[in-house]
Amino acid sequence: MLTIYNTLTKKKEKFEPINPPDVKMYTCGPTVYDYFHIGNARSFVMADMVRRYLEFKGYNVTFVMNLTDVDDKIIKKSREEQLNFNEVSKKYIKAFFEDIKKLKIKKADIYPKATENINDIIKMIEILEEKGFAYNVDGNVFYDVAKFKEYGKLSGKNIDELVSGSRIEINEEKKNPLDFALWKKAKEGEPYWESKWGKGRPGWHIECSAMSCKHLGGYFDIHAGGNDLIFPHHENEIAQSVAANDKPFVKYWLHFGFLNIEDEKMSKSLGNFFTTREVLKKYSAEAIRLFFAQAYYRGPLNFSYELLDAAERGASKLKNLAEIINREIKKNRTDGNLPAINISIFEEKFTAAMDDDFNTAQGVAVIFDFAKEVNRLIAENEKIKADFYLNVKNFLERTAAGVLGIIDFEAAKTVAGEGLSSDLIELLIEIRLNAKKNKNFALADEIRNKLKKLGVELRDSKEGTTYKMVK
Ligand code: AMP
Ligand code: ZN
Repeated sequence: MLTIYNTLTKKKEKFEPINPPDVKMYTCGPTVYDYFHIGNARSFVMADMVRRYLEFKGYNVTFVMNLTDVDDKIIKKSREEQLNFNEVSKKYIKAFFEDIKKLKIKKADIYPKATENINDIIKMIEILEEKGFAYNVDGNVFYDVAKFKEYGKLSGKNIDELVSGSRIEINEEKKNPLDFALWKKAKEGEPYWESKWGKGRPGWHIECSAMSCKHLGGYFDIHAGGNDLIFPHHENEIAQSVAANDKPFVKYWLHFGFLNIEDEKMSKSLGNFFTTREVLKKYSAEAIRLFFAQAYYRGPLNFSYELLDAAERGASKLKNLAEIINREIKKNRTDGNLPAINISIFEEKFTAAMDDDFNTAQGVAVIFDFAKEVNRLIAENEKIKADFYLNVKNFLERTAAGVLGIIDFEAAKTVAGEGLSSDLIELLIEIRLNAKKNKNFALADEIRNKLKKLGVELRDSKEGTTYKMVK
């Protein structure tokens, strides 16, 4: 039974989708004004693992992630780069898709963009205005927080605490400091759309309410995002959606802890960030995902290159195993032993871990125990039937690859970075064997030494020659 910690109720709850087996999930996506950093990546990767686990459990998941493609930061950047605002957003949307692909994040079903949903957004603001939840001050439309009785429920604070405890922009047009912009009047030179309030653009919060409502209905199962979004962003989404639709908004709220640097949140504004692009140049997607998966998703996690080095070592153990499995399956051996391994026990343990509020750290531990057991059996048995490897691969494909994305059997077919395929190595092994038969030991040694320099270590035994990747 899957349980999820719900930020709204502050408890672990049994997961019961509104309309099983369908699960509708929305995650706040990036504001596309720059390359996203490895802190953002933590939220995107953890949302991906949650989604993949729900699919593993047999749910039919519809996954929506918005792209905020018009906003103050994008406008600022367009001035700095002397580009049109949509040239900026286009550039970073392209970069976003390149980076999430490299991180092996599964694509969302829909990526709605704010600029492509202006009519729906305007419609929702009009409804809020008609119902008395919004007021217009000279072309700026604000949400009237005092009208929404449950404001503060998600963040667990009352209105007075929120006013004193947060840095809220002072604006004389607002009735209450917590009121927030639904529609922003266009200033000179800013992008705008026509509306009944005049030329302007939507506020950030209303985008997510309008787009989640459009694609997932007014009430859906899971809404996710980083911890920083609980207040005010998600609090505001609830206020808007509940007021406009007269029904509850989201059943389970899921929030991801920050990736920190020296215990401080990694963020653009503090300047203490590494872009995902630069980290991906040094580390594999599997290592980055393993690094995230080893921590509980709701807690903080400190970033350092030493920790990523350790994750890379862990990921390469799995990669070595994947290479052996691929090679042995290809041999298709029908003779030899079929060592006993109780895969269903490992599967039960993996499921129990992940069912417990997506305890990926425990899930990872189960995978490494499994890998250790498989390696032991390989070492103990001279010949093993292909069936053994097929069963082992099937389990790892569904869990370590399918849910966590910390092993990749496809990538294991090629040598990291060098683009050499295992077939090529096998070919060199064969040429070396022929050289030895012809007593051309100089050539045989040359092949061995040069391969070693490329990170491929050959091992000779009575059974023939095998190889291992060494970094
Ligand atoms: P943004 O582009 O700033 O709106 O952020 C995109 C996503 O990344 C949101 O879900 C944020 O909550 C999340 N996020 C931002 N900074 C961090 C961080 N340091 N650690 C984890 N998640 C973050
Ligand atoms: Zn959002």
